[in-house]
Amino acid sequence: MSDYDHNHNNPDSCDSGDCGSCGSADSCKSARAEQELKDLRLKTRLDKIKNKVLVMSGKGGVGKSMVALKLATLLAAQGKNVGLLDIDIHGPSVPTLLGLEGKPLGIDPRTESMLPIEYMGLKVLSIGFLLRNRDDAIIWRGPLKIGVIRQFIQDVEWGELDYLVIDAPPGTGDEPLTLAQLVPGAHTLVVTTPQKVATADVRKSINFCRKVDLDILGVVENMSGLTCPDCKKLIEIYPGGQAAEMCEEMKVPLLARLPINPELAQASDDGVVYKYIFDHQNPGDPFNAVLDVVLALDDEK
Ligand code: ADP
Repeated sequence: MSDYDHNHNNPDSCDSGDCGSCGSADSCKSARAEQELKDLRLKTRLDKIKNKVLVMSGKGGVGKSMVALKLATLLAAQGKNVGLLDIDIHGPSVPTLLGLEGKPLGIDPRTESMLPIEYMGLKVLSIGFLLRNRDDAIIWRGPLKIGVIRQFIQDVEWGELDYLVIDAPPGTGDEPLTLAQLVPGAHTLVVTTPQKVATADVRKSINFCRKVDLDILGVVENMSGLTCPDCKKLIEIYPGGQAAEMCEEMKVPLLARLPINPELAQASDDGVVYKYIFDHQNPGDPFNAVLDVVLALDDEK
């Protein structure tokens, strides 16, 4: 049992109402009642969200936040009601990509729930809004991180949504595991880059999704070459084919290969990614294959 479970956050571990570790049967029972209330609150909130999409990656820096943001933007552009939750504890990039750094976390005084920021029709919430200074590092022990992830799922006033796109913490540790447990029925996109080190981690992510019964929509290979600004030829920067090979072997679809786009990188640094993506919608964009798979989830309902 982890420290987190022991601190009454998971009284499921105590069936008798007296686990012996916390002193009294009464405290176990009240912890259980409190947990049941929290679970009910979580379920009530999630029931109002038709589709949940977790954007995961084996490691940081591969463009997971970018994929999550692009997906959320394009879904909103299709008239869907969309929430974007950035819960990448150690690298919350969404505030930077949207120029929302320094925005305080809004709280509804009536329900004490967190309020997402309304941004160009998107509802956005980032764990980065907790940081007063963007250079602050989050140094939390595991149980605290897990508690915060739970709060960001359970205590946010999303209202009715067609889609909640979640920018998940990278890797296959306790943090993504907590998310997977809290958001049953979520669909997953796994983002990677063409290098061997990244695809090796993606295998782990795919196995992780299978173990925790998350539906895998497919893999997105990002930073897959660079289009020459002069001759428009695609320059393969990394040895090609890594993700395609891995996807074939692991029997998951490779949904798209997204090139490095220097204008997008500039838009990221300028905090205007939403506008850039919105203004550059293009029928030839390889990302549309990702969008179509996600839109099909709503059509199936
Ligand atoms: P992660 O969430 O995996 O840590 P990010 O989405 O924050 O990674 O991306 C890291 C950096 O790379 C960001 O500055 C982002 O703007 C940039 N980036 C991601 N994908 C692309 C791309 N296809 N073209 C140009 N820049 C990109």
